[in-house]
Order: sequence, then C-alpha cells, then structure tokens
Amino acid sequence: MKVTVLTGGVGGAKLVLGLLRVLPAADVTAIVNTGDDFRHLGLHVSPDIDTLLYTLSGKANRAQGWGREDESWSFLETLRDLGGPDWFQLGDRDVALHVLRTARLAAGEGLDAITADLTVRFGIGAAILPMANARVATQLETDEGLLDFQHYFVARRCVPRVSRILFDGAEAALPAPGVLEAIARADAVVVAPSNPFLSIDPLLAVPGIRSALAETKAPVVAVSPIIGGKAVKGPTAKLMDELGIRLANASIAAHYADFIDGLVIDQGDDAPDGMAVARTATLMRDDEDKARVAQAALDLAASIAGR
Ligand code: GDP
Repeated sequence: MKVTVLTGGVGGAKLVLGLLRVLPAADVTAIVNTGDDFRHLGLHVSPDIDTLLYTLSGKANRAQGWGREDESWSFLETLRDLGGPDWFQLGDRDVALHVLRTARLAAGEGLDAITADLTVRFGIGAAILPMANARVATQLETDEGLLDFQHYFVARRCVPRVSRILFDGAEAALPAPGVLEAIARADAVVVAPSNPFLSIDPLLAVPGIRSALAETKAPVVAVSPIIGGKAVKGPTAKLMDELGIRLANASIAAHYADFIDGLVIDQGDDAPDGMAVARTATLMRDDEDKARVAQAALDLAASIAGR
C-alpha cells in the first residue's frame, strides 16, 4: 500500500514516524512544507525538511522539540561573541547541513535532488519531497506589520495578532518533481496533524497540489490537530482565534472540505457532520501512539476505498 503524507515539521513528523512503523519505508512518501524556508547568514535553512530528516533518522532532540540530539554550540557562541545575530539557534551539526544544502543549491541542484540525497545519507527509507523547488515564503499580516514566518515564529514568538497569511511566490511556483505523481498514484493520502494554516496551507497554495488532492482516486484522510477542543501546542489555537475560526474538528473538516474524504479525531471529540470519521487517542507521545494513529488513518482510508 503506497501512502503519501502531507506534513509540516514537528507535529507532522510524529505521524510520518508512525506510518514508518506500520508500513515498509519504501511505500511512504512525505510531501513537506517549505514555506518556512529562509536565508539566514547566507544559509538556506529548511526547518520542516530538517525536522523530518532528524526525526525519521532518530537524530532529533526529543526533549527540545527541534534540532539535533548530541548537538554542540561553538558556532553560535562564537557568532554571538562576534556580534552576529543569535535569535535563530544554529547548532554545529545543524550548520553543516545548511552549509551543504546552500552550496549545492548555489551550484544549481534542485532542493528535491538535494533532499533525496540527504534522505539516503540519513539512512531514511521513505521518500521526502519538498512541496516546491522554487521559493515560497509564508508571511503574516499582523498588528506589527508584514512579518516573515521565522520573524513571527521565532523572533516574536507568535505574539503579534495575525489578520492574514500569505504565501509569497506560491502562484509562480511549480510542485517539485514527483509531488503530483505521489498524490495521483498513492493508495491513500494522509494529511498529518500539522498546523493547517502555517504548515499545510503553503502546500495547498502551490498551483496543482490542491486539485491533485481533489482528483486523486486515493482516499484522502486528515488527522485532526485538535484534541479535546484544544490545539496540542504551538500557535494553532491563537491563530484560529485571531482568524475568527472556531477551534473544532468541524473547522478542520471545513478547511480541507474540497479534498478530504475522512478525518481521524480524538476519542471524546465532536465529529464534523457529513464526513467519515475514525476515533482513537490522537495524542502521539510515544512510538506506540504514533503507530496507532497512523494505523487509524490507514484503516479509515481503507474503509473509504472499500465503500
Ligand atoms: P507542524 O505544523 O507539523 O510543524 O507541527 P507543530 O509541532 O507546529 O504542530 C502543529 C499542530 O499539530 C499543533 O498545534 C497541534 O494542534 C497538532 N499536534 C501536534 N502534536 C500532535 C499530536 O500528537 N496529535 C495530534 N492530533 N495533533 C498534534
């Protein structure tokens, strides 16, 4: 069973790890948000791709929730001593990845090819595809003006009130090679419990991806990021409030209504009307949780396909 999963970083990577526990790695393709990508100190940083590389290879720092385990900080400390910007944390091992990616991009390679190679180097059997090779930059209109994603997320810690989210460059971008095929040829497509507005919407803004999701013969199911009427973490709840969207599974179902066939929701939560749902405890703390939620998504997809 070939499964394609749409994902952002931390929350989404947990589900991708779950899929890898219940499926052969070669059957899993992750299409990853690159709207958070940015240039910092001349380096091309791809936060969500890196989170997947680190998480799926078992090299992520679990306690911290981002970056690598066994990291050292000489680069950042020296940078700080020299008066350089230290608002974005860059560990030594992490920097090596950014330097290599930047050099290879400068030499003319595509982000897709570089990512595919890094995936193999990290010993990951699944395919990781950036949503697009061209620059698509998530930006937020806020009460502090128009902010780039990392400025809003890291430097301002999601404090500004958001009135609108833009994906600069999306209209002119093409899906990266393999993205549309991965959606069209999958046996099931899963939308991970990533931030719908900051991690999944950038993907949907790349022309062709949303229509490929609507047209694929494969059942498309999403795992809701809402548990017990709350978002597990991050700015999802604050953002939904500011955008005037009710924090409920019905809102997630409505947000993806044109292309999902089903939604995996937490046990006690309200089901949206008119949509196939599966219930399980959707908080993914350990590997067993991740496998269970992944299996629930696959079972829901299979039941929809069998109808
Ligand atoms: P990203 O959007 O994939 O980069 O991931 P984040 O870590 O920012 O999480 C995004 C959203 O996913 C959060 O606001 C949560 O609501 C949701 N989320 C995170 N972890 C879990 C989980 O274990 N289960 C479920 N159902 N949702 C989660």
